[in-house]
Amino acid sequence: MQLKELTINGFKSFAKKAELEFSTPITAIVGPNGSGKSNVAEAFRFVLGEQSMRSLRGRKGEDLIFNGSTSVVRSNRASVVIRLDNAAQGGKRTFPVDFDEVIIERIVHRDGTNEYVLNGSRTRLRDIQELLASANIGPTGHHIISQGEADRILTATPKERREMVEDALGLKVYQYKKIESERRLEKTRENIAQVESLRREVVPHLRFLERQVKKMEKSLALREELTVYYAEYLKREDLYLTYHTEAIARSAEAPRIALKEQSALLEDAKRTLEKNEQDEKSAALVALEKRVAEVRTRRQAAVRGEGLIEGQIAFLERRIQEMEQKQEEAEDAPVPYSEVKTAVVSAEKIAVKAADDEEVSAVRRALTDVVGVFKSLLNDPKKREVVSAKAEREELAELTKEREKNAKERERIAEEEVSVEEEYMALRQAIEDESTESREAERAIFEIMNRIREAEQELRTIETKQATLERERTEFKRELQEGVALIGRGITAYRDHSLTNDDGMELTLEVLVGEERAKQYERRRHLEKMKIRLEELGVGANEDVLKEYTDVKERDEFLVREITDLEQSAEKLEVLIVELTEQLNEQFVAGIEQIQTEFARFFTLMFGGGSAKLDRVKPKVRKRKHDEDFDFGANEESGLAEDAEAEEEGVEGIEINVQLPNKRVRGLDMLSGGERALTSIALIFAMSQVNPPLFVILDETDAALDEANSRRYGDMISALAERSQLILITHNRETMSRAGVLYGVTMAGDGVSKLLSVKFDEAVAVAK
Ligand code: ATP
Repeated sequence: MQLKELTINGFKSFAKKAELEFSTPITAIVGPNGSGKSNVAEAFRFVLGEQSMRSLRGRKGEDLIFNGSTSVVRSNRASVVIRLDNAAQGGKRTFPVDFDEVIIERIVHRDGTNEYVLNGSRTRLRDIQELLASANIGPTGHHIISQGEADRILTATPKERREMVEDALGLKVYQYKKIESERRLEKTRENIAQVESLRREVVPHLRFLERQVKKMEKSLALREELTVYYAEYLKREDLYLTYHTEAIARSAEAPRIALKEQSALLEDAKRTLEKNEQDEKSAALVALEKRVAEVRTRRQAAVRGEGLIEGQIAFLERRIQEMEQKQEEAEDAPVPYSEVKTAVVSAEKIAVKAADDEEVSAVRRALTDVVGVFKSLLNDPKKREVVSAKAEREELAELTKEREKNAKERERIAEEEVSVEEEYMALRQAIEDESTESREAERAIFEIMNRIREAEQELRTIETKQATLERERTEFKRELQEGVALIGRGITAYRDHSLTNDDGMELTLEVLVGEERAKQYERRRHLEKMKIRLEELGVGANEDVLKEYTDVKERDEFLVREITDLEQSAEKLEVLIVELTEQLNEQFVAGIEQIQTEFARFFTLMFGGGSAKLDRVKPKVRKRKHDEDFDFGANEESGLAEDAEAEEEGVEGIEINVQLPNKRVRGLDMLSGGERALTSIALIFAMSQVNPPLFVILDETDAALDEANSRRYGDMISALAERSQLILITHNRETMSRAGVLYGVTMAGDGVSKLLSVKFDEAVAVAK
């Protein structure tokens, strides 16, 4: 016997502890109306986890607790304990727990709270339900038929019926599993939705970061490229500038020297010109010219004077000679006219000569001479002869002296003239020489100026080049600074950058500095472009962004894994649900077939003929709630809970179709009370046959039966008891007679139900 004992304490009318032992297949509970028998059946329901207060004939938890009576105080709590055997049979336990006995206690307190205790440990209702379901003790209570509820299975909706059948078939475990799986699936889907929504939040950010990182990577690559390019550019530029600056500086040396030299030459030439431009010389020349003329005049005068003296001397000598001659020839000879004429002519000559002379002394001398001439005419020839001769001789001597003196003077003047002339000529030569020199100097200046201009031009060109180089040097420095700012100090090591040709050979300085400038400018343009691109990409690696990217990426990957995992478990659950559904369906279909067979057998047994069958029906999809569009075949139970059915679209239900023997009536509605009781009993028994529950409680199911039917009922009970323990609440004698143990329930004036074991006869008496 698996059901061992039920202990009721404080539950409903059982104010005191009452214990029922179930040691036989059939236990009957008998007693007068209102003594508390049904409370026992409810105690079963209660302890098995019934949640419907209606099924427990109460409104709230408190109603289940003994409420006191005139003489007994009310209880604070109600407790029911059920003890079930769980010893392994053939290596198998009924309940999947490692105990030989399963003891379940449910307690309800006045505040309505419930406690469930499984083998001494508090537990949840659900665990109790699952445990019981595993032994086919379901919550629909198909194995507990309350008073007046025998035909519940007949009045139930197809769907409720299906649940009862499922319960009876022990499919609740699958149902629980299925529900649990569906619940888990729903939860999983919620989780998926949640994770997906999380991911939806993450993904745009991730994409954004991804783009950032890609940009960053691009930027880094470009930076690397730029570094190399920069190094080449800077190295080339530096070499070029250094080389050409030096070269230009060198090239400036020659023109600079030339300029210096030519400037010096220019100075010299200018000085020469300046020197030659003096007027003194020409003034001197004029003076010299005058002096020459003067000296010449003086010399001529001297010559003339000398000539006069010569003439006088010649005259005197002739006179002396004549006088001497006359002395000799004729003493007193008159002065001949010729003499006078000669004298006059001579005097005239002297006078004329003197008239041209400016020198006073000469004029004076001329006057003297003239006087002398005329005197010689006037003298007494005798005396004159005597005196004249003497005087003439003296005069001649004097004139001779004077002629000598004069000659000397003339010579001196002549010498002076020569010297002055020489001086003049020398000066003139000098002046001539100087003008030649000046012309040469002018020509030289012209040439020098040309050379200076050339040198200056050359230097200007060089300066322009230097200025260009200078500018480029400044530009180079700026570029270097920018490079440092852009790439870092490492760029200053550009000199170590190796520049090779296509064959990998190091380029020579000559090649490097000899390159066309345009190429370097082209490089510069390229460099600028690269910089712009780099700028566009944004600068440098941002550690924070990288870190965030890694984090977000990891998070996204985690979420993706999570989704995958969840989807996998969702899939598994879906598969499981499908499997469970299939299993349920298969077992349900198989079970219903068996129940159907048993039902038909019990029905014909009960009614001595006729037919009964169960049909599986699937409601058609309704368009509107109140459209009566269900196809329930004969549709005997129209009007009952149709709306509820309507909402359960697509769920298969069960329909009962019976045909009484010798009667034309069909359908449950046409049955009498007794017939209904028999039909439902047949069905209940059929259900119990297929998958026998541990125990079945029937509360006055037999109330409506007449004697003949009571016997048949009794037979069926005996048959049923072979597979399930039966607890029968009954007033029926026949039924009582089938029981092994009888309990009598009585209630005295204190309103408290009491329990006692009774004999059959006592039972019959008590039941009355
Ligand atoms: P019948 O043979 O007429 O069906 P019964 O033996 O099945 O009667 P029950 O319905 O089990 O009788 O018992 C009903 C009795 O239990 C009533 O007298 C009722 O007052 C009592 N009862 C129900 N709830 C409580 C409660 N909470 N406290 C005290 N008594 C209660």
